Amino acid sequence: MCGIFGIWSTKLNVAEATYFGLFALQHRGQESAGIAITDGKQINLVKGLGLVSQVFDKDSLESLKGFAAVGHSRYSTTGSVLKVNAQPLLANFHGHDVAVTHNGNLINTEQLRKECAIKGYVFKGTSDTEVIAALLEQSSETELEDAILSLMRQIRGAYSLVFLAKDRIVAVRDPYGIRPLVISSLGSGYVIASEDCAVSIVGGGSGRELLPGELLTIDETGTHTRTALHQEARGGFCSFEYIYFARPDSIFNHKSLYSIRVKMGRNLFREHPVEADCVISVPDSGTPAAIGYSKESGIAFAEGLIKNRYIGRTFIQPDQLLREVGVKLKLNPIVDAIAGKRIVIVDDSIVRGTTSKKIVKLLRECGAREVHFRVSSPMVIAPCFYGIDTAGKNELIASNLSLEEIRDELKVDSIGFLSLKGLLNAIHLPKDSLCLACFNGDYPIP
Ligand code: AMP
Ligand code: SF4
Repeated sequence: MCGIFGIWSTKLNVAEATYFGLFALQHRGQESAGIAITDGKQINLVKGLGLVSQVFDKDSLESLKGFAAVGHSRYSTTGSVLKVNAQPLLANFHGHDVAVTHNGNLINTEQLRKECAIKGYVFKGTSDTEVIAALLEQSSETELEDAILSLMRQIRGAYSLVFLAKDRIVAVRDPYGIRPLVISSLGSGYVIASEDCAVSIVGGGSGRELLPGELLTIDETGTHTRTALHQEARGGFCSFEYIYFARPDSIFNHKSLYSIRVKMGRNLFREHPVEADCVISVPDSGTPAAIGYSKESGIAFAEGLIKNRYIGRTFIQPDQLLREVGVKLKLNPIVDAIAGKRIVIVDDSIVRGTTSKKIVKLLRECGAREVHFRVSSPMVIAPCFYGIDTAGKNELIASNLSLEEIRDELKVDSIGFLSLKGLLNAIHLPKDSLCLACFNGDYPIP
């Protein structure tokens, strides 16, 4: 996933605004965070492993002075959790620093890494984003925008990118528009972010989404846009953003994700009705769909599991005690709501099946009479190569087991997944504008 953020403002404290923006995007990645800022003369950078609140303190934020900044919160897909992979990365472009932030995943990283290494680039980390920094450093173009355009012709895969040079911000989106990126004006400048929840927090308006293939520059004269690559006829916006990744209060394509998720839950009941005493959710990601299931069925919604708000990033090793504590550390059951009841439990997705198996066991231990599992997305049968860690095919439960076998494996009384049709009906976009590859194996970029 990853969260990316950029801001240009002559009035706001941009380091603080970037911190708030990253805070709003924390759900997109918890492994590392960083901010690069320009004062017009040079770029300063602070980054580290951990949550945004762990990486920055008052002193480090105060050390970041300037009028434009970019920020990143990382979720690793390509490349492991190392400080050297934390973003923004710095590239040397004709003697000047350019900070690079990336959300997505390239699919021709290996080949490009080899080519850049042959030409003399020494890779410091293992992330695909460093290939972008390497291509920038090796570019023969003199204008930053031209160099970015040229690298867009070489990289393949999913990318929303925000670059910071000492006098400008440049943002681009891949020609399939796989990962989101929105821009909005502030009274005193502009803000750009993965989701609009990070735009509104710094005072930006509703704004617009960058078009697939668009290249946009922000500098002291305003914004300048051009078509760097032609938008592919077949779009590829990640449907999983609608299901799970993005924050429910974010808006994509002028539609609230919360209401789309409620609709998924409504459609789920229509497709997989059941008689039960209450509907509970796997908090927080399953809650809007559980509410939709409850509304459509008339079965009361109850809080059966409470999520520990402080779970965050943990350095605890999975030893014997943790195995015993298990899922209870994160999800605290309300026994009164569960004991003796016929429960419908709704989650947004089942990937490996590990979470759902533990939750069902927990509900049984609390005395649930029946457990009916409902999932507000189709079965995940294929891996993602565009920036989401959905595991390899051999680990995907629905790729290896039939529906009946999944029911037995999870030890539930019944199970139902939302169909592709039900999902598309809720998202309300044409099928060929979306990537649905993890559900149907049809990859927009081969
Ligand atoms: P699993 O336990 O592998 O079946 O994962 C499914 C659970 O993890 C669901 O509760 C989802 O809300 C959540 N989830 C789905 N996709 C991801 C992802 N890519 N990264 C982290 N969590 C996820
Ligand atoms: Fe999103 Fe799935 Fe496509 Fe990956 S494969 S981009 S998770 S829809």
